[in-house]
Amino acid sequence: MAEVILKNVSKIYDDKTKAVDNVNITIADKEFIVLVGPSGCGKTTTLRMIAGLEDISEGEILIDGKVINNLPPKDRDIAMVFQNYALYPHMSVYENLAFGLKLRKLDKHEIDKRVNEAARILGLEKYLDRKPKALSGGQRQRVAVGRAIVRNPKVFLFDEPLSNLDAKLRVQMRTEISRLHKELGATMIYVTHDQIEAMTMGDRIVVMKDGCVQQIDTPLNLYNLP
Ligand code: ADP
Ligand code: ADP
Repeated sequence: MAEVILKNVSKIYDDKTKAVDNVNITIADKEFIVLVGPSGCGKTTTLRMIAGLEDISEGEILIDGKVINNLPPKDRDIAMVFQNYALYPHMSVYENLAFGLKLRKLDKHEIDKRVNEAARILGLEKYLDRKPKALSGGQRQRVAVGRAIVRNPKVFLFDEPLSNLDAKLRVQMRTEISRLHKELGATMIYVTHDQIEAMTMGDRIVVMKDGCVQQIDTPLNLYNLP
């Protein structure tokens, strides 16, 4: 269960850049919402505020009715998948998946269970002993997604996760992430500048420009699809 509400949220950076300007979005439990818009319109900043990686200058973010503005990232039940996979090169896939859980001192059996479950969901069982450099781009991106899954978050944030992949793989991963959304039943917030991704993946799409929300609607209504 995770409803995410952004209420009059703004971000003003130290150099006075207003990156996000009075944004209001209500994201339903289990919704797949896509933030779309040109580079520099405030998508990443919005995600980073939800994750707690960036302070909120004005307004409130609520998860299930609770204001999370001052909650540290580790207490937010949120996991983020980044554009560059940020895998540890010297560690195996298993160790990459397990690392954060070890730091949080989960017991060995629980770690093993979660890592194997994530590997199953992502089709990575055969690659658990490999180092990232021995994986394809798509497999690396799956490991990055796996590192989010093992955290058991209520909310997934994706920051242009497919932009480093070639066109064919992007199409394949789009389908996989949509399938993942159904299988996990989590709330997902997905940032992209790719209209096709937005259109094919989103339950609803938030169109941003210059830090503001211009439109929020279903792909059907937004793109006048037949
Ligand atoms: P998007 O993800 O849509 O490309 P961003 O959220 O990254 O947009 O950036 C929104 C605006 O905020 C841009 O004008 C960008 O240059 C600015 N910005 C991003 N990060 C910082 C920062 N750390 N300090 C100052 N300005 C920033
Ligand atoms: P990692 O698995 O990336 O090494 P850790 O468990 O060491 O992460 O956590 C370091 C900090 O970063 C914590 O505050 C944690 O909540 C946050 N963090 C780690 N991974 C993510 C993620 N995928 N999304 C959001 N926050 C994360």
